Amino acid sequence: MEETEIIRRAMGLIGSRKTPAKAAASRANGLKGGRPNGTLKPLSEFECKCGKCPDDPKTYCPRGRAILRRRAAASKVEAGQVETAAA
Ligand SMILES: [Zn+2]
Repeated sequence: MEETEIIRRAMGLIGSRKTPAKAAASRANGLKGGRPNGTLKPLSEFECKCGKCPDDPKTYCPRGRAILRRRAAASKVEAGQVETAAA
């Protein structure tokens, strides 16, 4: 076996070794649950810092970002670029 191949396989074993930290992270991720449930947080729960929502939402405003994010997602649905679970 070529030396580089030996090193490659050794590094593969080192890299894939399951450490206690990785095992704990994996368990924590599992507890977060699977797919998102599709319910959206009401916009009223986002604080508006720009005072211009919803007419002229700003990216520095938490509510503005939520509005812009939802508009972008809606435009993708309208353009047929994504399928929705509801459809
Ligand atoms: Zn705002």
